[in-house]
Amino acid sequence: MTVRVSRRQFLKFGAAGLGASSMAMMGFAPDEAHASIRHFKLTGAKMTRNICTYCSVGCGMLLYSRGDGAINAHEEIFHVEGDPDHPVSRGSLCPRGSGVLDFIKAKSRTKFPEVREPGSSEWKRISWDEAMERIARWMKDDRDANFETHDEQGRLVNRWMTSSMVAASACTNETAYLTQKITRALGILKLDNQARV
Ligand code: SF4
Repeated sequence: MTVRVSRRQFLKFGAAGLGASSMAMMGFAPDEAHASIRHFKLTGAKMTRNICTYCSVGCGMLLYSRGDGAINAHEEIFHVEGDPDHPVSRGSLCPRGSGVLDFIKAKSRTKFPEVREPGSSEWKRISWDEAMERIARWMKDDRDANFETHDEQGRLVNRWMTSSMVAASACTNETAYLTQKITRALGILKLDNQARV
């Protein structure tokens, strides 16, 4: 049977065949090219290990960002995936953790310490040093004024009941241990965790 091919079709098939064979000879097999997309996406990116900020499971994350560290370069996270070397999650993230880029880039996210002075309705940004100094000052004053060595029956209690501590759930065992140590050493009994909020 004779198949009639127009001049236009002949040129089209010829060009497509030549292109495909040339690409294959140059190593551009479609499967390989497809498999390489992920590699190219992360080429040149800086990888930072972190822990998911959402819940107490504390899954490991790899955060990929661009920016060469120069003063004017704006470093920005553009990809997040599970950390295969993390002993808890071993590379997996739940849907919430997988979507953490939405949280990272949220306009409403608080990135700096802020204070609302007594009587003011405005929040103002302060430095980390000032924030630490203010917190230390308030804690010291409150503890000095309210620390109890004995209860009403005269029993030794050594407790500080007018302050409490809210700790982060997404932290390592070491951080959790230090949080307990510091809180209990100060005499604070009311310690809770953001995982229950
Ligand atoms: S990835 Fe999911 S399970 Fe893991 S810490 Fe984040 S929110 Fe929790």
